[in-house]
Amino acid sequence: MKSSDHSLEYRFWQNAVHEKDWKDALDFLLASLRKEMVFDNLAIYIIDENGQKSDIAYARAIGREKDAEADANWGEEIADKAIEKKEIVLEVPNEEKSIEKRVNSTYLIGLPLTASGKLIGAFSLVRFGGPEYTQEDINTASLASVVIAYVFEKKALQESIIELEKVQRQMRLQDDFVSTISHELRTPLGFIKGYSTTLLRDDTEWDEETSREFLTIIDEETDHLTELIENILESARLESQTLDMNFQPLRLDLLIRDVITRVNARYEKFEIIFNSDCEQIIQGDNTRLAQVFENLFSNAVKYAPNSKVEILIQSNLDDFIQVTFTDSGVGISEEHLPFIFDRFYRVPDQPKKAGTGLGLFICKRIIEAHHGKIWAESEDKKGTSFIIQLPAR
Ligand code: ADP
Repeated sequence: MKSSDHSLEYRFWQNAVHEKDWKDALDFLLASLRKEMVFDNLAIYIIDENGQKSDIAYARAIGREKDAEADANWGEEIADKAIEKKEIVLEVPNEEKSIEKRVNSTYLIGLPLTASGKLIGAFSLVRFGGPEYTQEDINTASLASVVIAYVFEKKALQESIIELEKVQRQMRLQDDFVSTISHELRTPLGFIKGYSTTLLRDDTEWDEETSREFLTIIDEETDHLTELIENILESARLESQTLDMNFQPLRLDLLIRDVITRVNARYEKFEIIFNSDCEQIIQGDNTRLAQVFENLFSNAVKYAPNSKVEILIQSNLDDFIQVTFTDSGVGISEEHLPFIFDRFYRVPDQPKKAGTGLGLFICKRIIEAHHGKIWAESEDKKGTSFIIQLPAR
């Protein structure tokens, strides 16, 4: 090795350890390696969890040959050999080819990558037109292979941590969900049981008006219960991606007007301002899209009581129609905003309202099934806007 072994080792390792991004770490390593030995291209192949060699994981052409830069295949064969033999493999060009063109005169070195005693892939270097690799070059490349294996092991570890955090969050949500759902189911059941037992009492005669009032409560609570159970089943179906969609030509402005009429009938005092410049026909599932807006309204009733809701449809955008649904309710703080579309997620620091954390999850899945997007923008204590974009054609 040209520099003193220790300083080379130090330079190889320092960025691999400190760089957060694995590609940056490899870029630095490549630059350090290039100072130590001559090569034109470098390629790294990693074995995936099924034991198959993946596509190229990282490749850089330092580029004395532009043709070769475009074609990373040169490294694949030697990497395969290094993986198969689990040892360093060298290849020099055959005589005939090398006379024709320098790019055909490839001096290759393939090195297996091992992390924690396990073969994880291989990396290869190529020199167009030689000279042959010296023992010193081979030693330097071996040292680089240790660092590369470390970088990929660290990358795999970081990915596992992210995955684990996701699973943990999901488990916490499931736990919360069980307690929420038992509460949510018990409340209407309690009403139904209470009022029906009261009506059935032998020792009391109920006048017509009171009986009707009690039966209305039972009727409403049964609807509530049905809706809740449907939401739970629907979210389970959506989780396993088996939602049937019935796409038909429809007008979004008319669909939303229908929903508004229903909402107005139910909540008389709810003020809704509706503006639309859109008479365009799109492909969509009428019932499902109505469900999305009904959900947004039922949230506005809960989280923005006494606030007016403004709905704007814009069709003068490139390839999509945009619906903005704005309330001036409790809002959602920044830290919770990224999660509100997750299954079971409920913002913890809001006033307690009945709910399961399934509504927005269902909305998102329905919009995505329409190849659209939905997201929220919000300012804590000021209000929330839900923005939906659906493809115009
Ligand atoms: P649910 O209302 O049943 O809890 P959703 O999935 O519809 O479930 O909503 C998830 C969470 O997002 C709610 O629990 C609430 O914390 C928050 N949220 C939804 N809509 C609004 C809104 N308009 N304003 C403020 N917070 C909202």
